[in-house]
Amino acid sequence: MFPMMPAILRNFFSKRATRRYPPMTREPFAEVRGELKNEGSVCTLCGVCAVKCPSQCIVVDKKNATWQWDPFACVYCGVCVDSCKTGSLRQEPLYRKAATGREIVSVKIVLKEQTK
Ligand code: SF4
Ligand code: SF4
Repeated sequence: MFPMMPAILRNFFSKRATRRYPPMTREPFAEVRGELKNEGSVCTLCGVCAVKCPSQCIVVDKKNATWQWDPFACVYCGVCVDSCKTGSLRQEPLYRKAATGREIVSVKIVLKEQTK
């Protein structure tokens, strides 16, 4: 115990290292990979993002025209953003909000009519 006393006293009188989240939030770091957003108007439901996602947290349902993302399974790596050729995906500089339950983000996609 005695060898630890200096560290104990130093921590006892120093500023708290943690925050009272969620009331106290930290400003995101520059270029943080944050919340995933799907700009539905340019999404083609190709499914590439779902195939490339290492966490398998994207589900593309062509039949029901929905794109779904599970922010609680996401590791915020950005692979889906890099693999989306239409530029539909982006990561905003926002940390995931506190939640009381698991929420799935669902985006309804309206595909543009194919021109012949
Ligand atoms: S977000 Fe991009 S990669 Fe994913 S289904 Fe839509 S167009 Fe394809
Ligand atoms: S950021 Fe990474 S883990 Fe999250 S949905 Fe995209 S590919 Fe999957």
